[in-house]
Amino acid sequence: MLEIHNTLSGKKEEFKPLEENKIKFYVCGPTVYDYFHIGNARSFIMSDIIRKYLELKGYEVTFVMNLTDVDDKIIKKSIQEKVTSKAVAEKYVDAFLEDIEKLKVKRASFYPKATEHIYEIINLIKKLEAKGIAYNIDGNVFYDVSKFENYGALSKKRTEDLESGARIEINEEKKNALDFSLWKKAKEGEPFWESPWGNGRPGWHIECSAMSCSHLGETFDIHAGGNDLIFPHHENEIAQSEGASGKKFVNYWIHFGFLNINNEKMSKSLGNFFTARDILKIYSAETIRFFFAQTHFAGPLNFSEDLLQAAAKGLEKIQNLYDRVLSELNSEKNEANDVEFDFQKYFDLFSQAMDDNFNTPQAAAVIFDFVKEVNRVISQNENISGKFYGQVKLFLDKTAEGVLGIINTKASTTTRNLENELIELLLNVRLEAKQQKNYALSDKIRDDLKALGVILQDGKEKTTFKIVRE
Ligand code: AMP
Ligand code: ZN
Repeated sequence: MLEIHNTLSGKKEEFKPLEENKIKFYVCGPTVYDYFHIGNARSFIMSDIIRKYLELKGYEVTFVMNLTDVDDKIIKKSIQEKVTSKAVAEKYVDAFLEDIEKLKVKRASFYPKATEHIYEIINLIKKLEAKGIAYNIDGNVFYDVSKFENYGALSKKRTEDLESGARIEINEEKKNALDFSLWKKAKEGEPFWESPWGNGRPGWHIECSAMSCSHLGETFDIHAGGNDLIFPHHENEIAQSEGASGKKFVNYWIHFGFLNINNEKMSKSLGNFFTARDILKIYSAETIRFFFAQTHFAGPLNFSEDLLQAAAKGLEKIQNLYDRVLSELNSEKNEANDVEFDFQKYFDLFSQAMDDNFNTPQAAAVIFDFVKEVNRVISQNENISGKFYGQVKLFLDKTAEGVLGIINTKASTTTRNLENELIELLLNVRLEAKQQKNYALSDKIRDDLKALGVILQDGKEKTTFKIVRE
């Protein structure tokens, strides 16, 4: 039985989809004004892992991730770069799609763009206005929070507290400090669309209400995003969608913990970020995904290169077994032995872990136990049948790769190992050169390797290396 921790109830709940075997899943995607950082990548990768597990369980998942392509930050960038905001958005939508593909994130069923849903957005605002929940002041339309009784239910905030404390839009014209923009009147030089309230553009929150509704319906199963979106973004989405439809908006809310750096949230505005693009030049998608999967999605996670290196090292055990399985499956065998192995047990343990609110660290531990046990069987038996290796491959393909995405299935075992072995050999020659005080040679080896994109790091005990792939 799958249980999900629902931010709305604050509890783990049994998951029941609206329609048997089908899941409608919406995740807040990026605002496309720059390359996304490795903190954003945590949300994209964890939602990908959840989606893939739901698919492994046999659900047909409609997975929607929006692209916010009209926004203050995009406009600001377009002014800086002296191009249209459409050009800024297009450039970073392409970059986003490229980068998530490199991170092995499966394509969404839909990537709706705000600028392509202006009609739906206007209709939704019209509906709210007709119900007396939205008001227009000189071409700026606001949501009247006092008209929505359940406001604060998701973030567990009382409206009185919110009014006094929270970071909310300051605008003299609004009736109430908590009211938020649905439609923003056009300003000089900004992109705009015609509307019943004059030329303008949509607010950020209404985009997600309109786009989720047009692709998934008024009520759907799962809505996810980073913790930073609980308030006000998701709180406002609920107010808008339920205010307009009179129906429950979302059954299960999932929120991802922050990726921190020095215990501070990684974010563009703080300037303490690394783009996923740059990290991908040093670490493989598998390493990055494993680094995330080792921590439960809901908690905070501190970013550090040491942890990424440890993740890369940890993965070697799984990758080595996988590579061995591939070569065993390619080799001819006569009179091979069938060995007893309880594969189902490991599938069950993996599912148990993931059914418990997508406990990926536990699921990864199951995979490591499996690898250890398989290695034991291999070391204790000779000439094992292809059937056994086929089943080992099937387990790893479905779990480690199919859900977590942590195996390089394309690795050509011979060249990859040879590459590492040759580098190790050069490291040994360099060590000998150093011992003989031939620093000219040891430096030359380091510099020549660097020119090839192999970076050496001299540690206390030994020298390690990393390969920078452009
Ligand atoms: P944005 O482009 O800022 O709208 O963010 C895109 C997605 O990444 C949203 O779901 C955010 O909640 C999420 N996000 C932003 N910063 C972080 C972070 N440091 N750690 C985890 N998720 C984040
Ligand atoms: Zn959203």
